Amino acid sequence: MAEQSSVGRPDRPLPGTVKPARFRPRFHWELLACGTRGHELVGLDAAHLRAEDRIFAFEDEEVRWHRCLRCDSWLPLRPPPRSVREHPPDRDEIELPLRGKPLRDKVVLRLIAINRAFHFLILGLLGTAVLLFAAHRTELKQTFYRVVTDLQGGVGGGPVQTGKTGLVHELDRLFTLKSGTIELVGIAVLVYAVVEGVEAVGLWYQQRWAEYLTFIVTTSFIPLEVYELIHKFTAFKIFALVVNVAIVVYLLHAKRLFGFRGGAAAEEAERERDIGWQALERSAAWALSAPGRSAGSAAR
Ligand SMILES: [Zn+2]
Repeated sequence: MAEQSSVGRPDRPLPGTVKPARFRPRFHWELLACGTRGHELVGLDAAHLRAEDRIFAFEDEEVRWHRCLRCDSWLPLRPPPRSVREHPPDRDEIELPLRGKPLRDKVVLRLIAINRAFHFLILGLLGTAVLLFAAHRTELKQTFYRVVTDLQGGVGGGPVQTGKTGLVHELDRLFTLKSGTIELVGIAVLVYAVVEGVEAVGLWYQQRWAEYLTFIVTTSFIPLEVYELIHKFTAFKIFALVVNVAIVVYLLHAKRLFGFRGGAAAEEAERERDIGWQALERSAAWALSAPGRSAGSAAR
């Protein structure tokens, strides 16, 4: 173990090998992914391991060590009792899993996508309700005033008095709005719902345009959210504002929108650094430089 940590010192510590700082938690996205989806192991069904497979699998005595291509854990396993293939697939046949920053970005973008899908659902229901209300306004209005009159008749009669506050007053105000105004509000809410839905789908598939769309839409609503918060302070509004500010900062800083911090080119370089075979070779140089039994015997 000591040999592994000194010989194969990668450019960043292997996931889970460094104690996290007390006040600065650091997520190991690889471990989160492996914890939910299992390790990415190659060549479990191979009869023999070759020298070039050493980067992800080698044999030592009766044990086969397999490396997870995502989190870099080495797992001791028994050779398969019945092998399906002669040797593990070649490098160009292996689809490498996401690691490092690209993996983090995928997880974070999907979390934002779920948040946006939730917005889509709520706004969609709200917009539909408003349009339904506009369409059946006359009947609802008659029922509303009959119920209010009946209630007031029960407590003393007289003309309809809805008061200045409360739900009844709010409903009364709604009935006095022009039908066209209500429809416009309903359509605006539905359009906003569709935009949120488009954001959700784009972010789920990590599309660059969706990051820009999310940034622009979220930023444009922040002044309104601040105004709302000053007008009436609630814990939910504070939470929503914090989430949206965090999303905007994340998109600008980590996803480098509008050329910020080197833009898309810098992001691509970062991806190259964290995924691909070179990253795997860097973080396990010891496996390549110290040929073991199987590698030595299989070397050509
Ligand atoms: Zn793993």
